[in-house]
Amino acid sequence: MKQLFITILFLFTINSFSQIDQKIYTIIDAVSAERIKNDVQTLVNFGTRHTLSDTISKTTGIGAARRWIKSEFENISNNCNDCLEVFYQKNLIPKGDNARIVHDVWVVNVVAVQRGTKYPNRYIIMSGDIDSRVSDSNDFTSESPGANDNASGMAGTIEAARVLSNYKFESSIIYVGLSGEEQGLYGGKGLAEYAKNNNWDIIGIMNNDMIGNIKGVDGVIDNRTFRIFSESVPPTETESERKMRRFYGGEVDGVSRQLARYVFKNVNTYMPEMNPMMVYRLDRFGRGGHHRPFNDVGFAGIRIMEAHENYTQQHQNIRVENGITYGDTFEHVNFNYAKKLTAVNAINLAIIASAPPPPKNLAIGGIMKPSVKLKWEKVEGAINYKIYWRDTTSPTWDINRYVGNVSEFTLKGIVIDNYFFGVASVGKDGHESIIVFPNKTFRD
Ligand SMILES: [Zn+2]
Repeated sequence: MKQLFITILFLFTINSFSQIDQKIYTIIDAVSAERIKNDVQTLVNFGTRHTLSDTISKTTGIGAARRWIKSEFENISNNCNDCLEVFYQKNLIPKGDNARIVHDVWVVNVVAVQRGTKYPNRYIIMSGDIDSRVSDSNDFTSESPGANDNASGMAGTIEAARVLSNYKFESSIIYVGLSGEEQGLYGGKGLAEYAKNNNWDIIGIMNNDMIGNIKGVDGVIDNRTFRIFSESVPPTETESERKMRRFYGGEVDGVSRQLARYVFKNVNTYMPEMNPMMVYRLDRFGRGGHHRPFNDVGFAGIRIMEAHENYTQQHQNIRVENGITYGDTFEHVNFNYAKKLTAVNAINLAIIASAPPPPKNLAIGGIMKPSVKLKWEKVEGAINYKIYWRDTTSPTWDINRYVGNVSEFTLKGIVIDNYFFGVASVGKDGHESIIVFPNKTFRD
């Protein structure tokens, strides 16, 4: 009896104070490279998934591709008591909207919502892209397998839905196949506007675009490193917010950057074999991706992708030229690597959807004082709060302290001038919200 009591006490202690959730390891192990491989093959077999391609055929073109993606989400839902709400979200783009829209076209996204039990209107999004292209962006008939760009991200998104549909989460998770990426980021724009119009509380989007290449054009072969792109501050900030930043800081602390750091931290905790590489910029130099339309309207959004790209296998007609084989074909995708990056997404979706919302209205004070003080509004579901801080030159939140279920705290002996500060909410299972950066100051 005493032994049992000690065991129970021990388990209770682990549960209450451990920051590790064993379920997250189960999720990592459940992601299947084989299923991702099969789905990439299916997507490649549609011949082309160009946004302007055939929508009638049952076997080729983007119409067949999106119908198959929808049916896959519906199959997953059938296996989890209808846990996914699956629908098309679409926008008609008129001919000539830009030079890549050569005829009127419906840009159709396939959306699957796994409804949150506690915060049904809060959403974390994982996206891949349905569409593909070859050398000429407007060539909608040539064979365009788009195996890595971006069947890999699409297959990873479907696989994450399969794995996570076995669980229930407090916040809603959206798995989405976006279209129109190569023609001008149309699908992301459509869904971001749809989210705004429906007052969806968007936590952020993790855009997966090319998650399967491990042999870079630079000659490096690397199946551990991946990139997390995030912009520094939202383009929607006001002129007064911009001016305030001169005096209070925050040049590298926008909402997308906090999401990037969150993913970075969780991967280091649960997948220490991986090398996440945060890149402090919106996207690759001068290039774009589907997180950007979300950033454009002020939502947090990051791009997750391979570290080493291969340009002979991107946006290329399939051909051999001067002894070089061109084309984004099936055999170049490394499915074990795509599985790992899918797991990166799955664990972050699971953690974020298990965590309470971040503290509200975080304010900071302590000008000309020996100690910094933070104040915030408590949020439903949080049982603890955690203050993070870091040297002003550090890219990551390096120092932290649990401060209890309080709405203000003074860090004794820590001077406001010398660090950046943020606060996260902590839920009953130890899962933490994204860290928020103060958006106001106070004097007392
Ligand atoms: Zn592309």
